[in-house]
Amino acid sequence: SEDFLRKADKLNVVGQLAAGFAHEVRNPLTTLRGFLQLMQSKENWNAEYADIMVAEIDRINSIISEFLTIAKPHSLSLKKYDIGIILQNVITLLEAQATLNNIQFHVQMESSLPLVKCSEIEIKQVFVNIIKNAIEAMPSGGEVSIVTVVQTNYIYIRFIDQGVGIPETLIQRLGEPFFTTKEKGTGLGLMMCYKIISDHNGKLTVNSIVGEGTTFEIKLPL
Ligand code: ADP
Ligand code: MG
Repeated sequence: SEDFLRKADKLNVVGQLAAGFAHEVRNPLTTLRGFLQLMQSKENWNAEYADIMVAEIDRINSIISEFLTIAKPHSLSLKKYDIGIILQNVITLLEAQATLNNIQFHVQMESSLPLVKCSEIEIKQVFVNIIKNAIEAMPSGGEVSIVTVVQTNYIYIRFIDQGVGIPETLIQRLGEPFFTTKEKGTGLGLMMCYKIISDHNGKLTVNSIVGEGTTFEIKLPL
């Protein structure tokens, strides 16, 4: 992604992003319009159509909020937070989704973590995205381990899944706008994560073995 951002300066990235964004939002809008047209006649009312429409609206919403985070200029309001508490909140938030997908969280956290200067909302978004990706990578369930390690000037937060893994040829595309292998993906989640972590002077790295799993590691300065 660093590579991407460097190249990004040269290519008119704003224009590219805007074009991709318009395209990504237009797709679900087209679906919505189609179903609404179908349901214009009362006898075509269908609860399944309504479900799809709600899902498509949710999708538009995620695309817009992820895009806004990416587009926001670098001006974070940093405060000192306990990363452990933020992590615990996110885990609680995602517990239901994990259980539904037959996934267990294993948390290995030091009992008292040093405070980290960060934007709570943005760091939360990063954790949510990485854990959601981990859940989505394990269609038949498994474990997501969340491990924190403190070393002199840095805290490391690792998310280890037992999912499908990422082929080497695709690793370099992570964080590229709209790159997704999912039918209903936005392909903006990791780009947003890279941007947020780099705004915190941190580093996001990935290690993956196809068929075994993936580890995302966040390194943040203390
Ligand atoms: P999205 O989740 O909408 O597809 P992301 O930017 O979050 O967009 O992720 C981009 C792609 O990276 C995913 O579509 C998937 O192919 C891959 N990916 C991300 N996290 C994982 C993971 N934990 N395991 C396997 N593949 C992953
Ligand atoms: Mg994602």
